[in-house]
Amino acid sequence: MRRRFALSLALAAAATACGREAPPAAARSFPRAPIVLISIDTLRADHLPAYGYRGGSTPAIDRLAANGIVFEDAFSQVPLTLPSHASLLTGRLPTRTSVRDNIGFTLGADERTLAARLKAAGYATGAAVSSYVLRRQTGIADGFDFFDDEVTISGTGESLSESQRDGARTADALAAWIDAHAAGPLFAFLHLYEPHTPYSPPASHALAQPYDGEIAYADEIVGRFLDRLNARGLLDRAIVALVSDHGEGLGDHGEAEHGLLLYREALRVPWILRLPGSADRGTRVAGAAGLVDVAPTLLALAGVPADGMDGASLVDAVGARRLPDRTVYSETQYPRLHYGWSDLASAFDGRYHFIRAPGPELYDLTADPGERSNLAASRGSAASAMAAWIERTTSGAAAPRPAAVDAEARERLRALGYATSSAAPPAGGSLPDPKDKVATYEAVRRAQQLAAAGRDGEVIAALQPVVARDPEMLDAWELVAKSLIKLGRTKEGIDAFSKVLAIDPLKPETHLALARVYALERDAARARQHAELAAKRDPAAAYEILAELMMDAGKPGEAAAFARRSAEVDPSRYMSLFLVAAALQREGRCGEAIPAFTRAIEAKRREPQAVVRNLHAGLADCLARTGREADAEREFKAEIAAIPWSPEARVGLATLLRSQSRDDEARSVLAGVVTTLPQPTADAYATVVRAFTVLGDAPAAREWTARARSRFPGDARFR
Ligand SMILES: [Zn+2]
Repeated sequence: MRRRFALSLALAAAATACGREAPPAAARSFPRAPIVLISIDTLRADHLPAYGYRGGSTPAIDRLAANGIVFEDAFSQVPLTLPSHASLLTGRLPTRTSVRDNIGFTLGADERTLAARLKAAGYATGAAVSSYVLRRQTGIADGFDFFDDEVTISGTGESLSESQRDGARTADALAAWIDAHAAGPLFAFLHLYEPHTPYSPPASHALAQPYDGEIAYADEIVGRFLDRLNARGLLDRAIVALVSDHGEGLGDHGEAEHGLLLYREALRVPWILRLPGSADRGTRVAGAAGLVDVAPTLLALAGVPADGMDGASLVDAVGARRLPDRTVYSETQYPRLHYGWSDLASAFDGRYHFIRAPGPELYDLTADPGERSNLAASRGSAASAMAAWIERTTSGAAAPRPAAVDAEARERLRALGYATSSAAPPAGGSLPDPKDKVATYEAVRRAQQLAAAGRDGEVIAALQPVVARDPEMLDAWELVAKSLIKLGRTKEGIDAFSKVLAIDPLKPETHLALARVYALERDAARARQHAELAAKRDPAAAYEILAELMMDAGKPGEAAAFARRSAEVDPSRYMSLFLVAAALQREGRCGEAIPAFTRAIEAKRREPQAVVRNLHAGLADCLARTGREADAEREFKAEIAAIPWSPEARVGLATLLRSQSRDDEARSVLAGVVTTLPQPTADAYATVVRAFTVLGDAPAAREWTARARSRFPGDARFR
């Protein structure tokens, strides 16, 4: 106590000696001021000029820092997007939110988020996010009146983290919401994803390091967004907080990205706080802060209670320019959940950073900010005190474990030939240390990139030695299995998947993949069993596959029931909504199918690149059958725009046109089944011939038979 008092006196004297203004004594509370929280994903504090970086170009963030308060040493609680945002928005540690990874965890509806608390206090609440990882189904949307997560799935869809949108569009969506709610108190949350991999800044923002280019582009978006607030007269009376959810390895300790290790480059994030009227501008606050402190700090500034949070308001420390002695907790469960290696936890007290690992580490960040010199042995008492603090902090937290294997599931697994004895992951100390595995980890990451590029042979060659050495590496086995199956080596692929199930018997991705494999192998019973096991942990995806299997088996009633269950769990699953509609159509229930198709088309708007065969043609067919010919024609044409060779759409449209005596149009539409194919097949010709015959256009049928015969002289269909 005495030491701290002396320290703050010394700091106050130093501040006066430097000629800086004394901190204003007025209470820092700004009831009903607009609150804006900006999270720039994957932004290392030390890559910002506001934190001493010599590269980079971030004029907007520099300006915000100059007009605000800079927390020098803010640490993320988890170097992973979803768990970190869960802690940011609840003020609670991951051990208490129970959101420990990006996949398989959701924020509970009982969490009182920052948005929910401000909403209860009369604020309008709006958010716009840029990554699929923060989609509304994760629970992050709780408490927001408006939540825009319209993110296009690009690439192969294999990697969640590649599903993102340009931050400029996210900022526009949120700014439009702010414009409509500027009259009353509001809380706006903006999430930008630019600095996350892949690093591909626009050409206008190319810098020596592409990562810095992405930061520069994010800065420009922030600048435009704040300018727009300013133009509305909101900025000067607003509370603005800018943070990141975690940093980025950039190879400093061998890790290129983030999630595996807990070194400072992955944990230290910017936290800049601008108060109304730029109060306390230019203040820099030293000492350990955490993202869990952001929500209680914002609530304190708004005069709203922040009970039940692990973080604390740092408002009172601003004047002292140094936080009181405190320790901040961070963790990552990612190595354990994905690779069967030890999880990591860390404690940071403003000077020392202790990492709990099979081989513990202690760094003195004042002397060794790059964390090169491990003092765990030489300063054993400091290390053990911090280890004990971690124990106390995490005591009572449930071990993060995917849902348990219940008796029914065990029985099903046994029926499929899988042993479940090793279901429980082995306990802490005996697991490999992630820092010893970083090279292996990077090999898997590169293999993931090869897989995304379709280089399956190279994936197998790169990973076979890895899984031979580390047979617990689930992600590696899964990559190998998928590549084997893509190359037609199905049996080997199934064997590789069984290695995954031996470690994690209910891994939904594995069961879903096996369901697809067996469906293609025409083993419907096994396919169904795997899909039902997947439903234990990922019901939406599993019921969707079951619906597909039932459609293939000619059971539309059962297909519709499964598809409805899937869409109930996740209403954004346009494929499930489509399957409901297609099943109704197949049963001839067009009156119900038409609104069902319309819902599916509406849901699919979020993923414009995806192509669903028969989505529009199915609707068109029902419209035509119920006499809505103009609407049917429009939908047939929509299908043809998506799939030019679509036999369903072209035969359907030709039938409609012929019924309206538009014979020439019907002929050219039907010809498209063949002419739009780069390599027309005999089946395509047969479709055209059959359709002209059914439509009673004998001359066209004769002409196309002759064409088909000259092209496929041996084919019996054209004799
Ligand atoms: Zn992130």
